[in-house]
Amino acid sequence: MTVRSFAGSQPEGELPEPKTAPRPSHLSAPAAPDSRTRGLLAGLRPRPVRDVGDLLEHVPFRHDDFREASLLADLRIGEEATVEVTVEGVRVRPTRRRNLVIVEARVRDESGPGVVVWFNQRYLAGQLKPGMRLSIRGERRGTVGAEIAAKRHEVLGGADEVRHTSGLVPVYHSSEKLTSRRIADLVSAQLGHVGDPPDALPAEIRERRSLPLRRDALLASHRPRTLEEAGAANRRLAFEELFLLQAGLISHRRELERSTIARALGRPGALIDRFRESLPFQPTAAQERAIAEIDADLDRSVPMQRLLQGDVGSGKTLVAVHTLLRAVEREGQGAMMAPTETLASQHLLGVSALLEPLGVRVTPLVQAMPARERRAALQVIESGEPQVVVGTHALIQEAVVFGRLEVAVVDEQHRFGVEQRRALEAKARDSGHAPHVLHMTATPIPRTLALTVYGDLDVSVLDELPPGRRPVVTRLVPRARRDEVFARMRRLLDEGRQAYVVCPLVSESPNAEATAAETEAARLRSGELAGYELGVMHGQMPAAERRAVMERFRSGELAVLVATTVIEVGVDVPNAVIMVIEEADRFGLAQLHQLRGRVGRGGHESFCILLADPAGDDAVTRLAAMVRTTDGFELAEVDLELRGEGSLLAARQSGIPDLRHARLSQHRRLAQQARSEAKRFLDADPDLRSPEAEVMAEEARRMFGEEVEWLTRA
Ligand code: ADP
Ligand code: MG
Repeated sequence: MTVRSFAGSQPEGELPEPKTAPRPSHLSAPAAPDSRTRGLLAGLRPRPVRDVGDLLEHVPFRHDDFREASLLADLRIGEEATVEVTVEGVRVRPTRRRNLVIVEARVRDESGPGVVVWFNQRYLAGQLKPGMRLSIRGERRGTVGAEIAAKRHEVLGGADEVRHTSGLVPVYHSSEKLTSRRIADLVSAQLGHVGDPPDALPAEIRERRSLPLRRDALLASHRPRTLEEAGAANRRLAFEELFLLQAGLISHRRELERSTIARALGRPGALIDRFRESLPFQPTAAQERAIAEIDADLDRSVPMQRLLQGDVGSGKTLVAVHTLLRAVEREGQGAMMAPTETLASQHLLGVSALLEPLGVRVTPLVQAMPARERRAALQVIESGEPQVVVGTHALIQEAVVFGRLEVAVVDEQHRFGVEQRRALEAKARDSGHAPHVLHMTATPIPRTLALTVYGDLDVSVLDELPPGRRPVVTRLVPRARRDEVFARMRRLLDEGRQAYVVCPLVSESPNAEATAAETEAARLRSGELAGYELGVMHGQMPAAERRAVMERFRSGELAVLVATTVIEVGVDVPNAVIMVIEEADRFGLAQLHQLRGRVGRGGHESFCILLADPAGDDAVTRLAAMVRTTDGFELAEVDLELRGEGSLLAARQSGIPDLRHARLSQHRRLAQQARSEAKRFLDADPDLRSPEAEVMAEEARRMFGEEVEWLTRA
């Protein structure tokens, strides 16, 4: 693509040069004259259209290719086409149905006569006149003569340009009450202003990447001459959007780095040596890589902000414990925060098991603790004694004062709001510095996407499972064969193994879900699983009760756990070898994958049975993917293809605004390029002092400003 490929796609007349001054007021004028249309525009996706500037940025997501006009005589039945005809006569055709009005025009083109019909548009009978020339988009129906059912038409040779029935016709994201055609007309009226906004992409980058001016890209997007031109224009706009996003995220990160310091923890020492010797296994190559990346971070006085991504079972705990120990080794404290009590108690077990042999103190801190225990915990935390603290939100309550917090590990970080994360980070500030932070997530996000979504975090990936682990055998079984599934389960239970039954997703309310779980358990107790010890777990149970059920399951007292998705995260019972997911087609892919991660945690061969008769294409694709692979990253790719980036819970909650032009599923490489350009630009002008940086920051604020708080000028 070259800059030249956009030349000539401009409408007649000279366009002003792009401005570098603040936006002229016309761009902030309302996008439509009347308040009703304005309301409808504000409801559009992917982003609301409020002013003229927004409208110009609301580019079509595709173009219909109506470039070739057909002759009436050549049309085949059922074919949709554009014809150019002269009207010879118009009438309202009589019909038997009262609510059906058919306007009919006799027409002719060079190939001969034809008939065009419109349904329920009686007013046309008064508008269409013999001798008029029309461009018509419609479908040939019937077998007698050329009768065309008109979808849309335009008058040829009139005051308006013909552009809805012929050429490359833009298709805009629209709504029921605001058609794409209406949007096209609104855009057309403002197209002369495409040159008004300043170009947010610095000239140097435009040249290096051979990218056209934004003005030309906007024009080419709304009114391309070729489909290639439209594609190139959209990539240009996507690049700019990603560039602004990355520039914002990176400068925000750098601002934080400049304003906060952490204690540099040096290189690993004797305690880490002992820890490694005490491990019953060799760390995987992926774990070693992550640890090396973390150690490099901890060696600096810039606070670490790293995301550790690893599928369930990839061994994140080991990496987390290493990181926490690095604090203890320097006479400091490490804290690990989990989003739920269940997860926190899981971590407590995992962390304690690894730290006990080393004699390192582990302090739990959760909501549900008895007051005396809690007071004692608070005291020892405040004393600054070197230790590892494991807990929930309880860690960030006001009463908690860390004497010497050096490292914080935040698990399943997308479940915490930004504020909660900040609150934990602030816990060390009293002592004049910030903690190093390791965020952990089991939500697999493709790496390139993670860079975009977590532009302000460094990313380490555990892309390898510990050796000797057998992938869970996954089967899709129709409901009609439910009996066989439970027969299989009973055989495994008789061998001393344990099982999960996941109840169907009930959307109405958590209450309904709880009831569904109870009902299902009762049904199984008196049916397929009569004679076995069944426990129930759902989100409506008090935490203490849930813990008790978990404990009974872990100890083997319960053979089967009937549960809702509350078992999705953190439950670790190696003896549980089979999971049956009922009505599996109702679950999302990420959810199914997380659920499956609960089995296959011990040495036994494990099974995940998806009970479903999937109806829609998406459900079939989802379940087929589950059967085909256990690789979370591959599944994340499938999910991304199916549902777009909004599907990724982590992306949703990372604070990324909705994007207008970029599709993260398509524009991975572009995202990387935009990121490296943003870095380069900010390296050269860290304080955003140049006029170009000023324009860029201004545009970034205009694009995303309401949703993200960055690009504050130093
Ligand atoms: P995650 O938290 O990423 O889901 P865990 O840290 O709970 O995974 O590890 C899962 C299981 O694998 C644990 O039982 C752990 O002891 C074991 N494990 C971790 N790393 C290794 C390794 N390098 N070799 C063998 N087993 C490992
Ligand atoms: Mg874990």
